[in-house]
Amino acid sequence: MGLRSTLFPVKHVIALDVGGTGMKAALVGADGALLHRARRPTGRERGPDAVVAGILDFAAELRAHGIDRHGEPASAAGVAVPGIVDEAEGVAVHAVNLGWRDVPLRALLAERLGGVPVALGHDVRTGGLAEGRIGAGRGADRFLFVPLGTGIAGAIGIDGRVEAGAHGFAGEIGHIVVRPGGAPCPCGQRGCLERFASAAAVSEAWAAACGDPDADAADCAKAVESGDARARQVWQEAVDALADGLVTALTLLDPRVLIIGGGLAEAGETLFAPLREAVRRRVTFQKLPSLVPAALGDTAGCLGAGLLAWDLIDGTTDRTDTTDPTDSTDPTAPSEVTT
Ligand SMILES: [Zn+2]
Repeated sequence: MGLRSTLFPVKHVIALDVGGTGMKAALVGADGALLHRARRPTGRERGPDAVVAGILDFAAELRAHGIDRHGEPASAAGVAVPGIVDEAEGVAVHAVNLGWRDVPLRALLAERLGGVPVALGHDVRTGGLAEGRIGAGRGADRFLFVPLGTGIAGAIGIDGRVEAGAHGFAGEIGHIVVRPGGAPCPCGQRGCLERFASAAAVSEAWAAACGDPDADAADCAKAVESGDARARQVWQEAVDALADGLVTALTLLDPRVLIIGGGLAEAGETLFAPLREAVRRRVTFQKLPSLVPAALGDTAGCLGAGLLAWDLIDGTTDRTDTTDPTDSTDPTAPSEVTT
């Protein structure tokens, strides 16, 4: 990498995170600086064709903003979308909440953005990429990112990239069976992890236990903190199921850092203290990874989309520090070697 001019024009990329209800976007500079941020509704009630048109219009407006305010159009774009994503082909295969099927989103965006390179990513893997590189797992060579929300997903980080698997399904830790024959899961199995340890599952269990249908996982965490015995039982059952799932994952993957995010992780040490203990009790020969809360919150997907875009321009190796974060080497020390 040569010297970067701070003068006008400013080289940048478009980052766009498409969610079920809202889209978050940014223009990201070469140093990761957010030059511009915007958000708007996804508008899924208007149907899948209108959602795709809305994504293309938003991207085109971001390009125009770059020309207007930063002196040149974006050099690349990264877009994260939910559901099943074929990252290699750039196709949004299916998303239940958006209703689309086989949308060649990468090609459509490239056409709309003047032919610049475009990366299409899966929302959780893209968020995981950001957590692993610039968030809670900063610089970790091997990490596993597990957001605990309505469901439970996962992103497997290996040497600065996130593993998608042969068919785009790698990391689906929420559908590891932890209670054989247990509660049915929408995926068709019974006893899947997300039926016991997602924020939605804890909300459901606590609402049933306390008799208030509106009580949720955050209320359960508060009741745990105030010493409520029923809440502690609900919470511990979730923690035990989660530890069972995580130990299966770490036995397979041997991650250095295990990053837990999503709504349930907002309980902080109320979750992390018993979870670390439950994982520690279960491992025998396996090495314990450091178990840490996610750092980027709901901006992870957008930041990850920006990383995907920059990777298209200058390659993953240039922007990825894949050292052991526990290494004592001062990362701010000047490097002897410059290339
Ligand atoms: Zn399942």
